[in-house]
Amino acid sequence: MNLIIFGPPGAGKGTQSKFIVKNFNMFQLSTGEFLRNEIAKNTTVGKKISSIINTGSLVSDDIVSNLIEKVISNLKYQNNIIFDGYPRSLNQAKNLDNLLKKYNQKINLVLKLSVSLETIKRRISERRNLEKRADDNEEIAIKRYQTYEKSTEPVIEYYKKLNLLKVINGERSIDQINKEISDIIALI
Ligand code: AMP
Repeated sequence: MNLIIFGPPGAGKGTQSKFIVKNFNMFQLSTGEFLRNEIAKNTTVGKKISSIINTGSLVSDDIVSNLIEKVISNLKYQNNIIFDGYPRSLNQAKNLDNLLKKYNQKINLVLKLSVSLETIKRRISERRNLEKRADDNEEIAIKRYQTYEKSTEPVIEYYKKLNLLKVINGERSIDQINKEISDIIALI
């Protein structure tokens, strides 16, 4: 099974993905984490993207597409991937369809964590103290939320029409959300 997890910044995508990895033995493909690693390693890609990430905008499709193809094409992860942070636009969703087809795979489930802007602001300010992410200040968090609403919400509609979407109330406790996700995955 391959699944996508959607949600605005601070919705708990990373936390829930790690839970799914542990319980269902899947591979988490977090494009945000991949990109932050490139920056930390000061690679050519990393140098190109650090200023983009720090304004809350999206990095170019080509860069992210190359990163995800490396994982999709790896037999070790075949049909066992959680897409966390990809796709973020309709273009990316179509690109993902093509890549999955190329490697004989598909998406089986799409989860959306639904969370209010107030909760996001609170969680991001808590996370800032723990993770020290450069893009976790309130101003950039709001920008990232707006980017999500503008570019990513239309993608969710795309998967809804394909009958793959499950919406989860992300305002509840981590354990409650874990439980709901486990129940959904168990039925796939
Ligand atoms: P995240 O950790 O998912 O919140 O991503 C952090 C940042 O990485 C985003 O604000 C974007 O600048 C960049 N990023 C992550 N995933 C993508 C993607 N699929 N397309 C373009 N930019 C991305």
